[in-house]
Amino acid sequence: MNPSETARETLKRLSLQRIPPTPDNYRALYNEIAGTAITEDFPEKSLKALASGLPRNTPEQLRFARQVESAVSDKNWESLNTALTDLLNKSAAEPPNWSALIRDLLTRLEARQADLTPARKREALDHVLAASPAPDLLYSRLQGLLKTWSQSAGQESSMVAAPADAAEASAVSGTAAGAAGAVPPAPTFTQGTPRPADLAKGATGELLDLLAQILESAISTVLADNVELVAEATRLATAARAARNADDIAAFIANLKRFSYRLNFAVEDQAELKSGLLHLLHLIIDNINELVLDDQSLQGQIAVVLELVSQPLNLRRLDDVERRMKDVIYKQSALKKSLLDARDQIKQMLASFIDRLADLSESTGDYHDKIERCADQISKAHDIADLSAVLEEVMRETRLIQLNAQRSRDELMQMRGKVGAAEREIERLQDELANASQMVRHDPLTGVLNRKGMDDALDTEVGRARRHHGKLCLALLDIDNFKKLNDTLGHAAGDAALVHLAKVVHEAIRPEDTLARYGGEEFVVILPDTALESAVGAMVRVQRELTKHFFLHNNDRVLITFSCGVAELGADEEAMAAIQRADGAMYLAKRAGKNRVLAA
Ligand code: GH3
Ligand code: MG
Ligand code: MG
Repeated sequence: MNPSETARETLKRLSLQRIPPTPDNYRALYNEIAGTAITEDFPEKSLKALASGLPRNTPEQLRFARQVESAVSDKNWESLNTALTDLLNKSAAEPPNWSALIRDLLTRLEARQADLTPARKREALDHVLAASPAPDLLYSRLQGLLKTWSQSAGQESSMVAAPADAAEASAVSGTAAGAAGAVPPAPTFTQGTPRPADLAKGATGELLDLLAQILESAISTVLADNVELVAEATRLATAARAARNADDIAAFIANLKRFSYRLNFAVEDQAELKSGLLHLLHLIIDNINELVLDDQSLQGQIAVVLELVSQPLNLRRLDDVERRMKDVIYKQSALKKSLLDARDQIKQMLASFIDRLADLSESTGDYHDKIERCADQISKAHDIADLSAVLEEVMRETRLIQLNAQRSRDELMQMRGKVGAAEREIERLQDELANASQMVRHDPLTGVLNRKGMDDALDTEVGRARRHHGKLCLALLDIDNFKKLNDTLGHAAGDAALVHLAKVVHEAIRPEDTLARYGGEEFVVILPDTALESAVGAMVRVQRELTKHFFLHNNDRVLITFSCGVAELGADEEAMAAIQRADGAMYLAKRAGKNRVLAA
């Protein structure tokens, strides 16, 4: 059957079988009669339109749209089928679980992390929220954010549930910003009522002025490097001062809450910065410690700084350590110079030694040449006269080289002596350098232990006394009328008197006792294995020694006396508490007329 016959037959059957004559029915019947397969046209145009209308907001959507587009342009039903099946499988497997995501976010947001502050996390979250309009995209971006937080989380500690809003955030975190919650509700009078003149001076007015002051001075100083917050604090201070009625105050409180919320982050950042810096300092010191393991000259300072950074920072301690460190650094720099001088001297000596050695080998070289020449002459000599001339030359050269060698030997011996002396000097200086480092535990003026040294000695002695159930006494002495001595003889004489006193006391106490400078003209003596009565006796003996050894000022004898309190350490008593008791007894000794020793 040719195509036109087939077409005719198709129309006939359509009419006979009463099939509606639609193009599809016609095509189906035609293929049936002709015995050909039904080939459906690919609806490229419609599918292209459909593909171009697909959403492309998330990476997932974009991938799907591209898959569809490529399948349509290839007219490939199979690819299209795969794309659709994949999509359906995916959405069936992972329905967006918003509640789990939000719960995760809240937990992670407040979790403490070494490298990510809650403030940073909030910032990132804000960014994602602002940049992701479509829910799908938001979901996937939030998931990504969570993933990065959990990757960098190693050391979360306290998990604080995230608060619902900014004001609550301050209250929950309980840091500086929490203070905002403590602002008393301002409208104690009705909204819009002007702030009465006397109220401006009353409690609310006073509170506002105080807040303005805090905002301007304290907050601005603490946040000096945060220009934006300082400007905000200044604006708030101005608003606090200008507040006249309940509306003003309500607006001020709202702004203050916002500010405190931001302040919270800044304070958190600062705390982390501080701990980070301390950590870094620790690292550097540890490293230096490794490097200078054999160099005693730094060990003392490093020990002190390490101890400082291992405790909560405190300005007083920092200042104290800095002062002590400066003394030591000054001394060390002076010593280092002498050390370098001594080394230079050795270097010079070595250089001239090598010169001498070169000279010597040169002259011996000459000698050998000459002797060789003489030997040659001897072998060729014909008579005695020839020989005697050669011998004479040999003798002359030998004498010369002997002389030369002798001189070189003398010089070298001399040099060796000098090098030895320089070496000993270097050793001495190195010892002194190490001692200077230890000075951080000693008082530079008197050389006795300073407060730090005393604390260490107390630790040791108290520990020992407790282990052996021994008695331990602490004596605190204060020079009498020292101010007068300073005023009449001058500060330098006062210093010399302190040195004198420390020397006399040090020589008068037992070797196992420890003397420390407690403050300006106050000293502490630690007396291990000593009962109260013996300790008082010992301090009276020290007093007598001081009257025997006058302090000389311009050849004038100056009598120095002290008042002293002695305490025996109680069974469970802290050393500082015992020193306080000794101080009380010393004070009584002063009141009783000075120059005496009293038991606490
Ligand atoms: P009192 O008998 O009651 O102890 O009287 P005082 O004058 O000894 O005590 P006061 O506390 O009034 O004065 C102590 C003085 O010690 C004041 C201070 O200038 C002086 N001083 C503290 N440290 C030093 C120092 O290192 N060198 C010198 N020269 N004087 C010092
Ligand atoms: Mg005093
Ligand atoms: Mg005094």
